[in-house]
Amino acid sequence: MSTASQRCHDYPHLVRRWRRLAKSAGIEFKPFARAAGFDVFFASTPALTLTSGVYISAGIHGDEPGSTEALITWAEAHANELKKLPLFLFPCLNPHGLSLNTRVNEDGIDLNRAFHRDDVPVIAAVREVLRPHQFTLSLNLHEDYDGQGIYLYEVQREKPYWGEALIKVGAQHLPVDQRYRIDISTSRNGVIRRRFNSARYRKLGGLPEAVYLQHNHARRAITVETPSEFDLASRTAALGAIISESVRLAVNLDGAR
Ligand SMILES: [Zn+2]
Repeated sequence: MSTASQRCHDYPHLVRRWRRLAKSAGIEFKPFARAAGFDVFFASTPALTLTSGVYISAGIHGDEPGSTEALITWAEAHANELKKLPLFLFPCLNPHGLSLNTRVNEDGIDLNRAFHRDDVPVIAAVREVLRPHQFTLSLNLHEDYDGQGIYLYEVQREKPYWGEALIKVGAQHLPVDQRYRIDISTSRNGVIRRRFNSARYRKLGGLPEAVYLQHNHARRAITVETPSEFDLASRTAALGAIISESVRLAVNLDGAR
C-alpha cells in the first residue's frame, strides 16, 4: 500500500494537512462542531460571497476515503489560486466513520439520511453554518464499493447540464461505470439524471445532504461516486479532475450572470 492509502483513515493527519494548507493558501479553516471527541471543520475562501460559489463536501460516509483524500489533495495542488476561487468546503463530516472505516457516525446514524433531523448535533451545526449561503453548485463526493467505475447523480433542473462534461474529465483516470441499473436508478454512460421526488427519499430512509442543499442552498446539485475498490491514486485523480472542472464551470456561469 502507498503512504496515502495507509493514512487516508487518519483524521488527525487530515486535519494537520488542512491546517497547513489553510495557512499557506490564506483561507479560513474553522471548527464548527464536535463529534466523537473530534473537531469538525469547514473551510472557506476570501473570494466566497453569500450568493454564489461552490460547495464541496467529503467524508460524510467514513468508508469512502477517496472523497476526503481527493479534496485535500486537490486543494493542496491548487494552493496558489485557492483564495481567489469562491469555495465553501466540508473536508470531512464524519471523523468517527473515517477513523473506523465505517459508513455511519459514532451513534450508528447514516448522516447522509439525517438532514431532516434536529437531534443530530453535527447536522444541526451544518445547517446553521450554511444558513446565510446560496451556492451556484453543491458537489457531494462519495464512493461506492459496488462501483465498477465512476458515475454521478445530477439533479434535473437548470440547463445546460454538466454531468457528461464531468464524467469526461473523470474518465481520464477511471473507467466509466457502464451499469444500466445503479441502486434504484437508471444510468446512461455514468450519468444518472433525476428530478426531486420526495417518495424516493422516503424510500431511502431519510433526507440526504445533496437534496437538502438542492432545496435550500444550491442552484445545481451533483453527487459523484468513485469505485472504492479501485486504487486510491486513480480515485483521487479522477475526483480532483472533476472538482477542477466543476469549479471552472461554476465560476464561468457566475461570471456570465
Ligand atoms: Zn456515500
